[in-house]
Amino acid sequence: MAANTESLPWLNQTWSKLTRQLERTPHALLFAGQPGLGKNRLAIEFAHLLLCMNPAGDAPCGNCKSCQLFAATNHPDMKVVTPLEEGKAIGIDQIRELNRYLTLTPHTSARKVVLISPAEEMTTAAANSLLKQLEEPPLGSVLILISHHPHRLPATIRSRCSRIDFRAPEMAEAAQWLAAQGATTGATAALAAAGNAPLAALALVEQGFVEQRDKFLTDLLSLTRDGNPISCAERWQKSGSETALAWFQGFLLDVLKASLNAASTQGEPGDWSNPDALKAIATIAQQVPAQQTAELLEVVNEGRRLLTTQVDERLLIEDILIRWNRVAA
Ligand SMILES: [Zn+2]
Repeated sequence: MAANTESLPWLNQTWSKLTRQLERTPHALLFAGQPGLGKNRLAIEFAHLLLCMNPAGDAPCGNCKSCQLFAATNHPDMKVVTPLEEGKAIGIDQIRELNRYLTLTPHTSARKVVLISPAEEMTTAAANSLLKQLEEPPLGSVLILISHHPHRLPATIRSRCSRIDFRAPEMAEAAQWLAAQGATTGATAALAAAGNAPLAALALVEQGFVEQRDKFLTDLLSLTRDGNPISCAERWQKSGSETALAWFQGFLLDVLKASLNAASTQGEPGDWSNPDALKAIATIAQQVPAQQTAELLEVVNEGRRLLTTQVDERLLIEDILIRWNRVAA
């Protein structure tokens, strides 16, 4: 594998699959999978390989004109389309500009490569404008759509792309990788909150997730006494609804496991999302019947699914915390 991604071992298989028949690369690819798996990094590496004028197997040569331009991050035959501002959509003007770009002959390489990321951020008009290019991009170009939420893309877009699914590694493999990056404190909890996506977990650790996690835990424990679910919900939303609910899901699973083990909190640290909070978990497991924990877990699972839709996040989290308050107080 090429230099930038060989440090992401869980992508090895995907890379082999992509590069096995380089000359037969489809014109439109959809890289699909949760955030934090390295889809963008792999796409950039793959673009490098596709643009190289003299690749050796699955590695760019590093010497040709194209590789030099790539190293200078100034390759005229590669274009990355992203929202102009974070959190904004990819608009039709951007896709129209892309369509014009694709009609021009490649500058150095045999083809052009375009990355659209995150593709689900395209407006409907932008997506419609892209459709024709996906059927047959001019001049043998390759379009790579990168999506954390592929189900949000129009079916017409999805059906025109060859889909490559990215999957998270097992917890043990991910934890080993995190340890190699120097992230050990809170790594397990961060991985649980990131759905085992290693890059997302690393970002969480670097952003002080462990401290944040402690605040979530404090909030939950306060709700078993006299805490206010409304103000808790406000804090949880501010710190990232998905992070908060993903963590809560792992926490409830811990509580459920502790309940089913008759509140014994033995076992390997790897069995728990919050191995350093087992005392609090055991206490809650003694107070809350397993059946109610399981029901709340269902609600949180559904809540995480709803977060990918146009739901009112604050109300969703309030509802969940009010339920917790009722169950645990
Ligand atoms: Zn090269």
